[in-house]
Amino acid sequence: MPSWRIPLSDIDFGPEEQAALLEVLRSRWLSMGEQTQAFEAEFAAYLGCRHAVAVANGTAALHLALLALGVGPGDAVVQPAVNFVSTANMTVAAGAEPVFADVYGLAEPTLDAASAAQAAAAARRQGLRPRALVVMHYGGYACRMDELAALARAEGLAIVEDACHGVGATYGGAKLGAIGDVGCFSFFSNKNLVTGEGGMVTVERDDLAERVRRLRSHGMTSLTWDRHKGHASTYDVVCHGYNYRIDELRAAIGRVQLGRLDGNNERRRRHVERYRRRLAPLEAAGWTLPFLGADVAGSPASQPSCHLMTAVAPDEATRGRVAEALKAAGIQTSLHYPLIPAFSGFAGRGRLVPLPHAEAFCGRVLTLPLYPTMSPADVDAVADGVLEACNVPA
Ligand SMILES: *Cc1c(COP(=O)(O)O)cnc(C)c1O
Repeated sequence: MPSWRIPLSDIDFGPEEQAALLEVLRSRWLSMGEQTQAFEAEFAAYLGCRHAVAVANGTAALHLALLALGVGPGDAVVQPAVNFVSTANMTVAAGAEPVFADVYGLAEPTLDAASAAQAAAAARRQGLRPRALVVMHYGGYACRMDELAALARAEGLAIVEDACHGVGATYGGAKLGAIGDVGCFSFFSNKNLVTGEGGMVTVERDDLAERVRRLRSHGMTSLTWDRHKGHASTYDVVCHGYNYRIDELRAAIGRVQLGRLDGNNERRRRHVERYRRRLAPLEAAGWTLPFLGADVAGSPASQPSCHLMTAVAPDEATRGRVAEALKAAGIQTSLHYPLIPAFSGFAGRGRLVPLPHAEAFCGRVLTLPLYPTMSPADVDAVADGVLEACNVPA
């Protein structure tokens, strides 16, 4: 692994995570026990939802969300073309067809409700049943949930929130992941809450939670933990499930990380405000800074989690040039994300409506370093590197 002067992201672990891990090791109970139950209860309370079900990773969460909603062969799942590939892959894994919709624009790369409506209509013309809408809160900034909820009602679609970027963010007083029918989170090493691998499904409806729990563990009616506690002696298998369980080690780390979340998201917001001030001169040079309309300081009722700091270059060549210049200075960057239907494994699959904004965004977006433990001087160094590479005076 190259040692970057300023990496794209970094983890905020302290002695508390180490102590929590040691406690689990000493307990000698490693999977699905008290730590997992406590992590789920604390996460549900934090989000303000009835159920939180901890799982192996964010991809498992998305798979279980679609399966619990009954998505299967013949169904279409409308989703943004700008996303990590996880939702699209899990749609195919569920036997359904992904149908990609456009985003609002370079400044707001989240699912465009009008394009999503067109995608649902196009899916119907192909003989598919539009069944669910997966929205993704890009960078931790909320989608326009009012417009999307109206569309979902009109079309009879369930809403899955891919809230992998949005843990701790709010929209109209509610936490992201607690607004749609099902919320999905990832606790991968580069997310705002880190357990290594790990994820969570959040849901209000008891029947959906029950299905997610069954599917998480082989379709079984009782868990090893319940039998250990003497709550059950045998079990039935009522559906074809998976092993998507989390373990006690990760759940214990997750509980400590949940305690750090609000403070760390606040530190991310301050870094983004600084980035915005420093990079403002780029806009005259044809760059777009996404979500400038979102008040980062905001009110607690409507606040992004600032998972990503992105800037959209005037063209693909400029993005490449700036990324190279930063790399030469020891600054790591990334691209969130390449356009999904352009991947060879998708070969245009699900591309039923025009995607001009998604294409432009994916071709030109650059992700800059952002993590709670970076210093204001680090933010300045990255901003200076970008401005210098663009010949824009600071
Ligand atoms: C990280 C991520 C996922 C997948 O989560 P894993 O835990 O890596 O499986 C899905 N969607 C988005 C938007 C993500 O950022």
